[in-house]
Amino acid sequence: MPTGRFAPSPTGDLHVGNLRTALAAWLFARSTGSRFLLRFEDLDLATSTRDNEVRQARDLSLIGLDWDDPPVRQSERSDLYEDAIADLSNAGLTYRCWCSRREVRDAAVAPHGPPGTYPGTCRDLAAKKVSEHQESGRPAALRIRCSSTTASVVDRLHGNVSSSVDDFVLRRNDGTPAYNLAVVVDDADQGVGEVVRADDLLDSTPRHIHLQSVLDLSSPSYAHVPLVLADDGKRLAKRHGSVTLHDRSALGDDPERVIAVLAASLGIDVPELRVRPSDLITRFDPAELSLDPWVLSTDTIDTPW
Ligand code: GLU
Repeated sequence: MPTGRFAPSPTGDLHVGNLRTALAAWLFARSTGSRFLLRFEDLDLATSTRDNEVRQARDLSLIGLDWDDPPVRQSERSDLYEDAIADLSNAGLTYRCWCSRREVRDAAVAPHGPPGTYPGTCRDLAAKKVSEHQESGRPAALRIRCSSTTASVVDRLHGNVSSSVDDFVLRRNDGTPAYNLAVVVDDADQGVGEVVRADDLLDSTPRHIHLQSVLDLSSPSYAHVPLVLADDGKRLAKRHGSVTLHDRSALGDDPERVIAVLAASLGIDVPELRVRPSDLITRFDPAELSLDPWVLSTDTIDTPW
């Protein structure tokens, strides 16, 4: 059965931008009779907490979203990521990298990539250099060997997006699997056929497509929903004001009022002041979704909706 998902990182309370993406993902799924899953992307153990998971799930329930299976957490799925890494390594598609973030940043940009593209410093190190690194005791990250492959995705909202794929990290030098690997493995393992997420991840999607192809996994469809911005042009964040469900309720906006505003911002016709997501299933039309970011001005953030 077709499956969609929402995959927050439990690093704090969800803000209305996150809730809007969750609502969009849920509507994409429920309007086509698909299953819907919740997955906590908690690989960054320094910033992810169980308390945040509980609060995020509570807020998603409060606004009227539901999911079909108990949520999974990435921190408990390392075996799956290591199996994928083993497959890639057995195919000769990985190598160890001793570069620090700073070295990558300061290195001359790789010929085919945007700034930040890995320049390939450790791709074909001489055996002598490898043993020097090993003797130094500095831990190595593991990278995929892509050598500037190009990958494309046809996004349901943005159309064709194509870019070169650099040798991105699969496992960090602290042993943690990287997001770009985990997301691909999880979506495949959980049978996700439709990925709806914020469009700050659009640039990473060609990497995911490439990984799916080398791991012989089918690619889901993608819809990258525009971000919510504050009027300083920056991505909405806690510092911008009353942006969480708890903040909104302190201003007198109950969850159904918040849904009405979020739904209208997604191009859904909402004549009523308060609405539940289940009332929107038949009104949702992906073709009406705007490609422009939703800008929340400072006065809108701090006054009742
Ligand atoms: N965990 C990511 C985030 O919270 C979302 C990843 C995804 O949907 O693929 O931004």
